[in-house]
Amino acid sequence: MNLQERDRVVNWHPYTQMKTADDAIPIVKGKGIYLFDDKGNKYIDAVSSWWVTLHGHAHPYIAQRVSEQLHTLEQVIFAGFTHEPAVQLSENLLKLLPNNQQKVFYSDNGSTAVEVALKMCIQYCYNQGKEKTKILAFKNAYHGDTFGAMSVSGRSVWTKPFGEMLFEVIFIDIPTSENIEDLKAQISTFQDDIACFIYEPLIQGAAGMLMYNAEDLDNLMKFCRANEILMIQDEVFTGFGRTGKLFAANHLSEKPDIMCFSKGLTGGTMPMGITTCSNEIFNAFLSDDKYKTLFHGHSFTANPLACTAALASMELLLNEETQQNIQRISEQHFRFSNVLKEHSKVENVRQTGTILAWEFKTDQRTSYFNEIGKKLYDEFLSRGIVMRPLGNVMYLVPPYCISTEELNFIYKNILQVLDSF
Ligand SMILES: *Cc1c(COP(=O)(O)O)cnc(C)c1O
Repeated sequence: MNLQERDRVVNWHPYTQMKTADDAIPIVKGKGIYLFDDKGNKYIDAVSSWWVTLHGHAHPYIAQRVSEQLHTLEQVIFAGFTHEPAVQLSENLLKLLPNNQQKVFYSDNGSTAVEVALKMCIQYCYNQGKEKTKILAFKNAYHGDTFGAMSVSGRSVWTKPFGEMLFEVIFIDIPTSENIEDLKAQISTFQDDIACFIYEPLIQGAAGMLMYNAEDLDNLMKFCRANEILMIQDEVFTGFGRTGKLFAANHLSEKPDIMCFSKGLTGGTMPMGITTCSNEIFNAFLSDDKYKTLFHGHSFTANPLACTAALASMELLLNEETQQNIQRISEQHFRFSNVLKEHSKVENVRQTGTILAWEFKTDQRTSYFNEIGKKLYDEFLSRGIVMRPLGNVMYLVPPYCISTEELNFIYKNILQVLDSF
């Protein structure tokens, strides 16, 4: 049996209807923006392998650093013990965040980073004897696939089978200059019961790269602050340069209480999640009463290899060349977005930094299950480009090492595909 057939026998793939799915493509190697399959075909990874790869695949510097760490200390229990990579990473990360972020809690992925954040908020209230258990979130939000993360995500076909089991959340629209007063009024109705507000800043990724204004979010955050609603800023997707700045936080003047990171954290090398918080949150767990402890942890909390990958990736991210690449990609995207806007089969073109999205006009409504998505996916694959439309929403989230020419090659193909469909 070849690899595809063996895969069929034993593997169950994510977000995949296994009955009708095509065979998975065996990838044998990655280098820079390219993925190589077992037949020698290469593909440009235009979606950074589900939005995680920052500096390209198999980056030699990250590989070298992780390899050294692997020979030094691969893992140690993080209760009662610590190590240089975890301390250094926390120090380096906190320096880049809003100055109220003071403590780092490690976990394994974006969903767990969100779970930790939610538990911090609920227990923050509990430890102080406040009965606040309601959570505020945006319609269309996506915060992950574990139960807590699903609960605070918009209700959709993804969450439907679990509907009854998800905890109650107050969902509001994303803020605009028109609806902001109305949103404040809605929040006021529940104000005394709301423990926290969780949101994807500026871009709702999985919902289809829906974008909204920093100014309007600032407005909403100001209102939450004034009404003692804790804020969880989920930067799992937006973190580490995606929005053109290091974090979405750099577009905002208000500061969240808690922040979540994953995806680009290790440059896409290893799974890891981080939840950071203010001293105010942290201090609410300090007590002689042992019951006020945050009872949460994962076997691989602050795994030294993942911490080292993150340290190496952040070094690369901060160097001049990468910062220039991020600006160049943002500018190239901006120019191409103006071309797309003129195209008769395109609507709702939007761009924030290195993220460019648009909708393919179809007779069906815009949705994840719009059938055009699969056809577009196949067409781009045959042209050597991995794009993964969310239904009829198409987007580009390339690794930062993509060159001007490679990006132009993708744009050229996009226009050809649009014309031919
Ligand atoms: C992907 C994502 C998550 C979940 O991260 P996983 O590592 O896939 O569990 C959470 N929040 C946002 C905003 C995301 O984009």
